[in-house]
Amino acid sequence: VYIIINKVKYIKMRIDYHTHTKLSGDNTQTIDELCLSAIEKEIEEICITEHIDFNPGDTCYGHFNWESHLKNIEYAKSKYNLSVKYGAEIDYQPQYYDNIKEIISSCDFDYIMGSAHYVDDVIVFNHDDYFINKDMFTAYNRYFETELEIIKTGFFDGVSHFDLIKRWGSRFYGSFQPELFEGIITECLKEIIQRDMTLEINSSGIRQDPKEFYPHPYIVRLYKKLGGENITFGSDSHNKNQTGYNIDHIYKFLKEEGFKQLTTYSKRKKICVEI
Ligand SMILES: [Zn+2]
Ligand SMILES: [Zn+2]
Repeated sequence: VYIIINKVKYIKMRIDYHTHTKLSGDNTQTIDELCLSAIEKEIEEICITEHIDFNPGDTCYGHFNWESHLKNIEYAKSKYNLSVKYGAEIDYQPQYYDNIKEIISSCDFDYIMGSAHYVDDVIVFNHDDYFINKDMFTAYNRYFETELEIIKTGFFDGVSHFDLIKRWGSRFYGSFQPELFEGIITECLKEIIQRDMTLEINSSGIRQDPKEFYPHPYIVRLYKKLGGENITFGSDSHNKNQTGYNIDHIYKFLKEEGFKQLTTYSKRKKICVEI
């Protein structure tokens, strides 16, 4: 099915651009479980974005391997009637700048996301280490400053779970109020727009503590107001049945906010599809 917007032909497609299998090292999901869950949700294209981590202390460290990623995806493509893309979710820390540059140039990815899981060498998952003795402003501002640094590397096509920090921050400071950080958030969004990058709407926050997707609707609206158009959907699936998590809810939200298309990628070139 095609639709025409401004003389450009768009394919209408249901996608999930943030999924993991056990090759990521932090879950047990098989490639079959992932694909079957996508098909059940009538998703037509998935991007498998395995974790790539260079920090020896991280759970995912040492798991990523291009050959296994390739084999996994070739298997999925031959077995299922599903379009499958070669993605990556790279965990950014400035000391691994050269490693990241090297892996990006040596593998043939379709789509690469940059993720802030660490701030100033502390993993934000470990909430005691990161949040204790930090006031809310420092905790959140440092997170968004790290996001800005990631965006400015120019390495990535997409920004995953932009306000992930609220997953644990909400336990310490109550529900996240993006208006309080509008300055730094605006700076990040402008940089995303200027670089023609994609902002991901990640539904995993709905099943986690914040009980809302990433990023907060206020941030999505701000992005649109600033001229942002490149947006994609990801469930951050780590377990069976999570692929496509809340896709209908997110698609409805985006349509109501006036978004008409989602971005997909092939060999790191952007392709828009109708929502
Ligand atoms: Zn992540
Ligand atoms: Zn992920």
